[in-house]
Amino acid sequence: MNIVILLGAPGSGKGTIAGRLAAEHPELRHVSSGDLLRGAVAKGTEAGKAAKAAMEAGQLVADELIATMIKDVIAETTGDVTMLLDGFPRNVRQAEILEAIGAPVKSVVLVDVPDAVIADRIAGRRTCPQCKAGYHIHALPPKVEGVCDKCGAKLVIRKDDNPDTVKDRLQVYHAQTEPLIAYYEAKGLLRKIDGDQGPEKNAAAFFAVM
Ligand code: AMP
Repeated sequence: MNIVILLGAPGSGKGTIAGRLAAEHPELRHVSSGDLLRGAVAKGTEAGKAAKAAMEAGQLVADELIATMIKDVIAETTGDVTMLLDGFPRNVRQAEILEAIGAPVKSVVLVDVPDAVIADRIAGRRTCPQCKAGYHIHALPPKVEGVCDKCGAKLVIRKDDNPDTVKDRLQVYHAQTEPLIAYYEAKGLLRKIDGDQGPEKNAAAFFAVM
């Protein structure tokens, strides 16, 4: 098993890239920390209860809480698999935790998108609550409006995708997550792609450098 980390702001489209690539390549597995946390909230587990308020406010949940979930997924993943790790690490401390558990990070790909583009993207974002597929009302619409192509569930707007929370999430990204760019650059692991080329080209560009 090895790991490719997706680095980028909320709304950079890194989840869409990982989802697309995992659907095309059986050896790739998309692991999203946000999806793990939303799953825990929906199930009402202790971790979910502890994470809920921070998530709804667009803040980060406690490092230990999400790190434990990620460690469990890594421990369960064996064989010839490349994990596309999306949303973790989110700060330098989490990167250090990942390193301390000896996770085999092969590369870190920054999906680069300007903030102004992101605000517009998030406003149009729709998500399948069942299979987690992502859509956009203009850039990546479902075949039938409001309905997931893959599983037929009714699409939703994520609670933390409202404009005020998005501002907070971008602020958190710049303050806490962006330092990871220098962190991984210093380790010689960082690659960068332009994340504003459309879903197909973004995914192809990512695959070419990962
Ligand atoms: P995402 O779907 O990756 O945008 O994550 C949604 C929310 O889950 C974030 O705004 C945070 O509240 C929380 N979250 C996801 N991943 C992490 C992480 N690695 N560390 C802390 N909080 C996280």
